[in-house]
Amino acid sequence: MEKGLVIINTGDGKGKSTAAFGTAFRALGHGYKVCVIQFIKSPSDYGEILSAKKFEDLEWHTEGRGFTWNSDDLEKDKAVARKGFELAKEKINSDKYDLIILDEITYLTNYKFIDIEELLTILNNKPDRLNIILTGRDADSKLIEIADTVTEMKKIKHCFDDGIKAKKGIEF
Ligand code: ATP
Ligand code: MG
Repeated sequence: MEKGLVIINTGDGKGKSTAAFGTAFRALGHGYKVCVIQFIKSPSDYGEILSAKKFEDLEWHTEGRGFTWNSDDLEKDKAVARKGFELAKEKINSDKYDLIILDEITYLTNYKFIDIEELLTILNNKPDRLNIILTGRDADSKLIEIADTVTEMKKIKHCFDDGIKAKKGIEF
């Protein structure tokens, strides 16, 4: 059995989540079981969620209520995040998956919705074969330390700065 990896996609450039979903696509091709848990974002008709329904071996959970800088109630955000985190723990410990993606999880530790030490313990004790991808800006240095592969997406340009709004099929 090959040892699974802990992978982090971080940085301020575009491509953290989509690179993770690309890996899911690759893993599914090999018959791997994949679970995606998306934090922060609220359920909506995102292209990736619509696509996910087409894959039998792909499970998708959306455990958020929108981006926190728009939040009207941080306590509610925290409760939703905690619930998502409990689900993540359950999925990780189930040993039913080959790849689990924790999308935008860095916000949970950065906003102190969850304890970084608790996340580190879970990652350090994950089932051997399981690969885990964590995405989000400003990944904590303690996460970077224990990860096997860390990539920083660096913004060179983003069309958003030229006033081009989020584009269907590209951003959502
Ligand atoms: P993607 O989902 O496109 O791979 P991402 O996961 O790297 O992006 P997030 O921080 O999760 O980036 O951003 C959420 C949304 O903001 C996405 O629609 C993404 O395309 C867009 N985005 C990413 N980077 C930037 C940026 N530097 N400036 C403006 N918008 C961005
Ligand atoms: Mg993202």
